[in-house]
Amino acid sequence: MLNPLAPTAFQLTVLGASGGPLETYNCSLFVKSYHTPWVDGSLLMVDAGTILSSMSNILQSSYLRKNPPVAAVHTPSTIKINYNAEPLLKPFPLEKLPHKPPANVLPNLDPDHRLISQSNALYIFNHYISTVCVTHAHLDHILGLVVNSAAISRSKPLIVAGSPFTINALETHIFNNSIWPNLTSQGVDPCGLIDLVSLDHGPSVSAPHTCPHPQSSGCSSLQSSNKPNSSNSTNSTNSTNSTNSTNSTNSTNSTNSTNSLSKWVELAQNLLVFPMPISHGRHCDSTVFFVKDKITSKVLMIWGDVEPDFLSQNPRNHYAWKRAAKYYDQGRLTGIVIECSFKSNHDDSLLFGHFSPHHLIHELDHIFLKNSINQPHTNLRVIISHIKDDLTSIVTELEPKVVIMNELKALAEQRSLPFEFIRGDPGLTLFL
Ligand SMILES: [Zn+2]
Ligand SMILES: [Zn+2]
Repeated sequence: MLNPLAPTAFQLTVLGASGGPLETYNCSLFVKSYHTPWVDGSLLMVDAGTILSSMSNILQSSYLRKNPPVAAVHTPSTIKINYNAEPLLKPFPLEKLPHKPPANVLPNLDPDHRLISQSNALYIFNHYISTVCVTHAHLDHILGLVVNSAAISRSKPLIVAGSPFTINALETHIFNNSIWPNLTSQGVDPCGLIDLVSLDHGPSVSAPHTCPHPQSSGCSSLQSSNKPNSSNSTNSTNSTNSTNSTNSTNSTNSTNSTNSLSKWVELAQNLLVFPMPISHGRHCDSTVFFVKDKITSKVLMIWGDVEPDFLSQNPRNHYAWKRAAKYYDQGRLTGIVIECSFKSNHDDSLLFGHFSPHHLIHELDHIFLKNSINQPHTNLRVIISHIKDDLTSIVTELEPKVVIMNELKALAEQRSLPFEFIRGDPGLTLFL
């Protein structure tokens, strides 16, 4: 059972969770430390497939007192876990935003609050967002950042942080004055609107295959094969001495400078980030970000696109799962955001570096839970993102976003797994 008395640590709001092929509502979410007020630099974004258009639509829904776009489909589940009774339809502090809907709407003067919503979205973008953490540079994760970058107007550059692999891709292949103007602070003719910051990603270790039996109940090999050199990173607020939330390159100090896996970086007010490398097909390094609330020491785990260890030539998920299991045992893990792109009947050879339900359930069960010594396990919210649209499907019940959620719930139920799966539709706001 969820513990209603557990302190809330985070607000998480999904802006988009599609992995395409539709170009709307691509992967993007933001996190705020729950006990930190809405002030400049209080939001941490993870991925930026969409920013302004999604924020604007969500704001407009709030003003019109409608459900956020798409998100209404699963409100029963959302309401159940949203035990802090925060208003579901208000992911943003409407009273603090500069533009208010007029009491008396005059005809032809923004009657549907579209323009007010856009202006307020821009305000949020330029004031509240401190850093955009990018899991990898595929277009469905950066599209909003790139197109919206023309609207950046801040007193200091927007921090865009990611692994060296990701930052290099953005620098070399996107902001290169050819694909898009160089709005960054480095390179040829820089505009200085964006600071690209490489986060120490830890060693890009390769491990022997960890679990040869995805459908079995074994997997004891995992217990001994996980040897990340992490020793002190679970020490909450003491594990970082960063004081400047926007000066990331200088704030990556940790208590142990020789341990590259023990660096928490403060990238938004009271939010620390710890990246780990994961595999996403043969050609792309992706990232899982642990986000820690400095006030409560609770931790959220947010995955980029990722393939199952079972199918990977460079299986690294088990390192991240082991770390997550430690936080889970300590009662500090409040949720997991992870992709599940395809239905279970999708051929493994056509996953292209993604999960389908049985692979995800397998990793949650045989890697994550097997690394946990906590008995009994308490319920954990798993927010599902990056479901690939199937545009050939014309029946709701056959839509991947319906089928995948049903499959996950059924598989978890069969195994009595302690997970509550929630689909990360745009506008979904959870207090975790
Ligand atoms: Zn993607
Ligand atoms: Zn990708």
